[in-house]
Amino acid sequence: VTEARQCAGCGVPLQSEDKQKIGYVPTSTMEKENPICQRCFKIKHYNEVAQVAMDDEDFIRILNGIAGTKALVVNVVDIFDFNGSWLKGLHRFVGNNPVLLVGNKLDLLPKAINPNRLVNWMKYQSKQLGLRPVDVVLCSASKGMGMERFIQALGEHRNRQDVYVVGATNVGKSTLINRILKEYGESEVELTTSRFPGTTLDMIEIPIDKQTSLYDTPGIINRDQIVHMVTAEDLKLISPEKTVNPKIFQLNDQQTLFLGGMARIDFVKGDRQSFVVYASNRITIHRTKLEKAEELYTSHVGTDLLSPPTGENVKMLPPMRKRSFKIESGSKKDIVISGLGWITVGGAGALVDVYAPDGVSVTIREALI
Ligand code: GDP
Repeated sequence: VTEARQCAGCGVPLQSEDKQKIGYVPTSTMEKENPICQRCFKIKHYNEVAQVAMDDEDFIRILNGIAGTKALVVNVVDIFDFNGSWLKGLHRFVGNNPVLLVGNKLDLLPKAINPNRLVNWMKYQSKQLGLRPVDVVLCSASKGMGMERFIQALGEHRNRQDVYVVGATNVGKSTLINRILKEYGESEVELTTSRFPGTTLDMIEIPIDKQTSLYDTPGIINRDQIVHMVTAEDLKLISPEKTVNPKIFQLNDQQTLFLGGMARIDFVKGDRQSFVVYASNRITIHRTKLEKAEELYTSHVGTDLLSPPTGENVKMLPPMRKRSFKIESGSKKDIVISGLGWITVGGAGALVDVYAPDGVSVTIREALI
């Protein structure tokens, strides 16, 4: 029996099973003397933050800890997947600490988006979800957009206290932190890992000044995120990598749009109107008659006509579940399929049925554009 070994850097138990999880080392490194986890390796050799993920239970322990300290909480969400990347219950755990909400991946949204409108929408959504952020900023960590405003907000709201950065996996938290380090970090900044009091979890500590630090907490796995339902191969197709271009369809009722094999939108009833799809350019959009939709899906999902999911990957998807929406005439609405994108429905009044994998949130909002 071999005992679980510990990382010589941060002390977490080492494992070779899951790359995304805390304490990962390749099997070959495990055999070496004083092995260090992949995360510590990157910090040590590249001064770079790598993301690890953890499950809810550990996360709650960390958040409870944050409530007991005085700090600014920076909550990073993916604006292309606002609902999917939202941390449920966050408002209960931050205590009286201020929350700065950061909407990342701004570069994916069409230029026609009005940023003020988006910020207001995010404030409204947060309020609905029980959180009142002190400020909302938009940025693109990978493109370096909005960074000055973010740093400014950080200075303004942290009140010379520590900063905790939290977020679901895949929102771009590591990209954001590495961007800050590159652009604003002094060259002598040395990253360290530290234990959060009362837990076995390590966090990366980035000193801001002599007294205070910014802490990168592990990312939280949000089971509702589409990220966790598809293969890595399909995830590449589903996640837009550049600005999504609107694709406009004039539909009559009793027509259907397929977003690959990931979602199906039935225009059940209403006058002829536009359906505008905002999704990754690599998702094939297919229009058909509603009466043919069922049979088409069964016989063609996974083929070029209806993919992603590609090939056999469809078997990994949760079963499709129907959600129905009634849109009053005169109001343009977005039907948002978390992680995939959204469809703006004309405004002539419509009954729309949406099929998406069970667990993926499908919501409706005032049109953003
Ligand atoms: P983390 O799990 O929250 O640390 O997320 P990562 O920093 O690893 O990023 C997750 C994915 O989102 C990666 O594929 C990144 O390249 C991508 N990403 C991060 N920031 C941005 C951004 O501002 N815009 C776009 N389009 N992609 C981003």
